[in-house]
Formats: sequence, structure tokens, C-alpha cells
Amino acid sequence: MTSPDASNLAALRPRLPSPLQEVTDDRFARRGVRLLLKRDDLIHPELVGNKWRKLAPNLIAAAGRTVVTFGGAYSNHLRATAAAGRLLGNPTIGIVRGQELADRPLNPSLARCVADGMRLHFVDRTTYRRKSEPETQAGLLRAAGAEGAYVVPEGGSNALAVRGCRELGEELRGQADVVALACGTGGTLAGLAAGLGPGQRALGIPVLKGGFLAADVERLQEQAFGERRGDWALDDRFHFGGYGRTTAELDAFAKDFEERHEVAVERLYVAKLLYGLVVMVEEGAFGKGDAVIAVVTGAPFGR
Ligand SMILES: *Cc1c(COP(=O)(O)O)cnc(C)c1O
Repeated sequence: MTSPDASNLAALRPRLPSPLQEVTDDRFARRGVRLLLKRDDLIHPELVGNKWRKLAPNLIAAAGRTVVTFGGAYSNHLRATAAAGRLLGNPTIGIVRGQELADRPLNPSLARCVADGMRLHFVDRTTYRRKSEPETQAGLLRAAGAEGAYVVPEGGSNALAVRGCRELGEELRGQADVVALACGTGGTLAGLAAGLGPGQRALGIPVLKGGFLAADVERLQEQAFGERRGDWALDDRFHFGGYGRTTAELDAFAKDFEERHEVAVERLYVAKLLYGLVVMVEEGAFGKGDAVIAVVTGAPFGR
């Protein structure tokens, strides 16, 4: 087994910087606003989008050890960790929320994790909720056979991941007035905002309900950089009821966007971002002549 380092990563030929593509969309054009897509979904066919930026530095740090992480039944992060482990030669263990899943056939997302070599360990929801408490975590790792493994938190957001995402901001310096992205744990936003140049602002669209994210992003920036960094804000109006929730309207919007621009729209995050931006441009939230970048943080699974 090889231990991953920067040269192993380079051998995977990530497409970095990822392409920046201007699209013509009349909803933006009639307001005098330019829309560009930052195609992080094209970084790597198997380790897609912001998951590359977050996991690559962690796998280097793990240096060949087993990597253990946490996620729900449809977690993009679990799939990405399994893929990263296979590509880079790290064994992986996934601690999955929901004891009841252990007795059912694996859904396609978890089946992919297993196909990529991840060993799954299912836990009840109460224990899962307490997984970050040191004693609970130690017990979980023991039960999962993951003692001594390199721990990546749920959603993959730690200081290394946030610093990895700073490169996303650096790639976009001078390219736009506003850079917008969908947020889960907020790690990508925390890094992006730190990497942008003067006069640029980052806009996060949370896909989870709850209003806790600003404090999390601030804490992640403290951990990664020792202070709050960059100009960033959140708009909490576009979660559609929470993680994994959707409506017929959102789905129709995403299909229409795919047809207009020939880009596959990931539904858990990217669809909500693009929907939010169309609402905001119609509200006049951006100035005439502004350039807005939407970060395509991932691709749809199974298409
Ligand atoms: C994981 C993920 C996100 C969320 O990233 P955070 O750093 O947790 O905010 C956004 N978009 C896609 C497509 C993802 O898979």
C-alpha cells in the first residue's frame, strides 16, 4: 500500500484550477448581471467537487492509515471518502446514522461506498448525535474496529479541509464581485471566503434548516486561520425545508436549468443555490454590471 502524499494526488490528475464558464441566462442578462459557473464538478470524475478540496489534504495527513468518518444514508461525503480511499490506498470505515439500515439492502449510495472498499458500521441515531463527544467517539471507534484510525468529522470540515478550500477562493481572485455556493457544514464557505481578493464577497446558501451555520463558519475559520477571514454572509431562505427536502417547483427549476445550460444539476445542494440566485437577481440583489459566480460544488450521483 502506498501512503498518499502530494505526488500521489498529482498522479490522479485533478483538473485544477477547475474551469470557469460564463453562461448566458436571460434572467440575469436583463438585470445587467453576468453569471459564471465555477465547475468544481469537473475536478475529478470520482472524487468530485468540493470533496476533493476537503479530503485531499486530510488523506495526505492520514499518510496511509485507515480513515474513519461519519454520515447519513445518502451522504455525498461518505461516498467521496470511500472513493478517495480507494484512489489513494487508504482503508476506510464509515460510521452510518441509523441502526435500522443494518437490516436492509444497501441503498445505491451506501452500496457505492462498499464497492469502493469502505467498511460500514451502523449506529443508532442517539449515539450518532453524540459522536463528537470524546467518550462516545472513543466507544464508537472501538465498536467499529477503528481505534487509531485518522478521524475526519461528519461532512469533512476540519482545519485542513478549510485551508484546502481557500484555494477555491484564490482561483477566483479578480474574476467576480460575488461568489455564491451552497453550504452544508460551511467548511467550503469558510475556506473560499478566506481565499477571495479585495472587494469580492462570498454568499452562502445553507441547505439545512436551523440558522446555526454562521457560528459554525466562524468557528471553522478560527480553527483554520486563528481569526475570521474575508467578506461573507448567508441567506437562509432557500433550504426548502431542510437537507434532502425538495419540491416539485425546485425539481422543475433544476431540470429547466439543465436544459438551458447543459450542466447536470446536483439536487441536494446545487439546485438550491441556483434557485436562490435566480430569486435574488430578480429582487435586484446584485448591481448592474456585477459578475456573479455560482460554484458547482458537485455532480448528481448515479447519472
Ligand atoms: C458536501 C457538499 C456541499 C457542502 O459543503 P460544506 O463544506 O459541508 O458546506 C456542497 N455541495 C455539494 C455538492 C456537496 O456534496
